[in-house]
Amino acid sequence: MARAPGPERQLLVLYTGGTIGMRSEGGVLVPSQGLAAVLRTLPMFHDEAHARALGLPDDTLVLPPASPGQRVIYTVLEHQPLLDSSDMTITEWVQIAQTIERHYEQHHGFVVIHGTDTMAFAASVLSFVLENLHKPVILTGAQVPIHALWSDGRENLLGALLMAGQYIIPEVCLFFQNQLFRGNRATKVDTRRFGAFCSPNLPPLATVGADVMVSRELVRKVIWKGPLVVHSSMERDVGLLRLYPGIPASLVRAFLRPPLKGVVMETFGSGNGPTKPDLLQELRAAAERGLIIVNCTHCLQGTVTPGYAAGLAAVGTGIVSGLDMTSEAALAKLSYVLGRPGLSLDDRKQLLAKDLRGEMTLPTVDKRQSSLQGSTLGHSVACLLGLSSGQEVDAMWNALTPSLALAAAHAGDLEALQELLELLSPEDNDLCLEDLSGQTLLHAAARKGHVGVVTMLLHRGADVNARDQDGLSPLLLAVRGRHRGVIQLLRAAGAHLSPQDLEDMGTELCRLASRADMEGLRAWSQAGADLEQPGYDGRSALQVAQAAGNLEVAALLQSLKGAGPWEPLLSTWTC
Ligand code: ASP
Repeated sequence: MARAPGPERQLLVLYTGGTIGMRSEGGVLVPSQGLAAVLRTLPMFHDEAHARALGLPDDTLVLPPASPGQRVIYTVLEHQPLLDSSDMTITEWVQIAQTIERHYEQHHGFVVIHGTDTMAFAASVLSFVLENLHKPVILTGAQVPIHALWSDGRENLLGALLMAGQYIIPEVCLFFQNQLFRGNRATKVDTRRFGAFCSPNLPPLATVGADVMVSRELVRKVIWKGPLVVHSSMERDVGLLRLYPGIPASLVRAFLRPPLKGVVMETFGSGNGPTKPDLLQELRAAAERGLIIVNCTHCLQGTVTPGYAAGLAAVGTGIVSGLDMTSEAALAKLSYVLGRPGLSLDDRKQLLAKDLRGEMTLPTVDKRQSSLQGSTLGHSVACLLGLSSGQEVDAMWNALTPSLALAAAHAGDLEALQELLELLSPEDNDLCLEDLSGQTLLHAAARKGHVGVVTMLLHRGADVNARDQDGLSPLLLAVRGRHRGVIQLLRAAGAHLSPQDLEDMGTELCRLASRADMEGLRAWSQAGADLEQPGYDGRSALQVAQAAGNLEVAALLQSLKGAGPWEPLLSTWTC
C-alpha cells in the first residue's frame, strides 16, 4: 500500500465527542472539551520542541517521528457542541463531510474522533456522502476515556493518526484495537472489551502488530481522478425494522406509513420472513406505494441468498436484496440513494443492487454462471453429451482451449501448452488470454516458477509487466514464490517493480529479515528492491537482523547491497 511520500503529512482531526474525551460529572461520563490540550501533554502525541522549531500554532500538534524524515502534523477541530454519539444524526455526519470538503486540499488525511455507539453508522454514512475520495478518512474512539490509566483511547487515536498519516488508503475506515476496517463493513459487537468492532463479511484492510500488514488487494482503487463530491442531500425518512417471530401485521403497517420512503428490514437467516398473508399484504402494499424495502439478514455473518423462502419472495420486486451488508451500511445506502435527485424508483433500486463503496459482496458465482449462459463454452459443454458434428467438436475446442492453455501454463506443461496455442484461432491472441482474475499465461507460469514456459512465452512477446486485477505482475508473483530463475528471466526481459510494488517494501524486508528468510531477501534483491529502505519503525532490514543478532542475515544483506545487476539469461527476445 502506498506509503505516503514527503517529509510532512498534514492531518485534520475532527473531535466530535464520545467516551474517549469524556470526564465524570456527578457520577456519569459527559463529553468534555479540550482534547487537544490533553494530547499536548502526552509525549506520544506531541513533540513540543519540534512544534516550536516549526512555529506551529496552538491548535496544531506534531507526532514524534514515526519513520525517518517524516512527521505527522495534525490540527484538532472540536465540534460544537461535543456529543455522545447516541445524539449524532445524519445532520452532524453531513456537517463532518462538509468540513472535510472545506479542508480537503490542504490536508493529506482526516481522523474523526467519534463515540463508539454509533460509529459504524457514522462511517457508513460518510462512505456514501463522500464520493471519489482520494485520501484516508479514519474514524476512531475508545471504550475508556483517554486520560484514564488503562485506556484504549491512546492506542486507537495514535493508530488512526499513523494510518492516516503514513498510508494512502482512499476510503472511509474505522480503526479500533489495531485493526483498520472498511467503515461501511464494521459493526459494534461489544460494550466493554477493547475489541469493540468487527467486520463480519470483509477482513480488515490492515492489521497492526510488530508489522503493519496492509491487505492491498482489499483496498479500493481510485478509479476516477476527478474532485471530491459531497452528497449532502441524504433522505432522513428511512427506517430499520427487525422482524421477529409473530410480529403483528398491524405493527408493520404502522411502521411503514408515510412519510417513510425506505426501510431496511432485518430478516431471519439468509433472508427469510414469516409467510402470514396479512403481513405479506402490508409489505406488498408498501412496495406498491413506492416504498423501498432492503432485505438484510439479522445474522452477523453471511448473506441474503436469492432463494429465500416463499414468503418474502412473494412481495416480488418491492424487495431489494441487501446481500451481506450490515444494517448500518444498508440504512446509510438507502438514505443516500433516496436522497439523489431526479432518479426513478427503478433507477434507485438498481443503484441499491450495485456495490457502490465496497459495502457489499456481489455474488461472483452467479456472475460467472450468467456470463457463461449463451456463450460458446456453455453450448459446447452442453453438446459434450452428444457431439455429433465436426462443427460442434470445433466449437467445443475453441471454447475450451484458452482455459486449457492457462491450466497448462500453470502446470508447467510446455508441450501441451505449445500444442494448445497452435489450436487457438488467429483472433484469439494467446498473449491476451486471461483468467477471471486477469492473470495471463505469463502470470500463471511465473507464479509456479516454470522456467521453460516463461522462456517460451517471453520469446512469443508476452507482456512482461502485465498486471492482474489486483495489480500483481508476473515479477511480483515470482518473487513471492522465490522463483529466482524466473525472476532473472523476467528482469532480463524488462520486468520492473512499479512504485506501487515498492510501497511497504521496507516493512516487508524487515519482516523477512526478522524471520531470517534469506531466500525471500535474495528474491526481492534480484527483483530490484532497495534493501536499505526502512520499515514502518524507521529501521532497515540490516538493522533488524543486527538487533536480532542474526549475523548470517546481516552478512547476506551487506553482500546483496554491494551486488551488481544480475546477468540476463536471455538476451535476444523482443517485447
Ligand atoms: N456513549 C458513548 C458514545 O458513543 C460510548 C463511546 O464512545 O464508547 O458517545
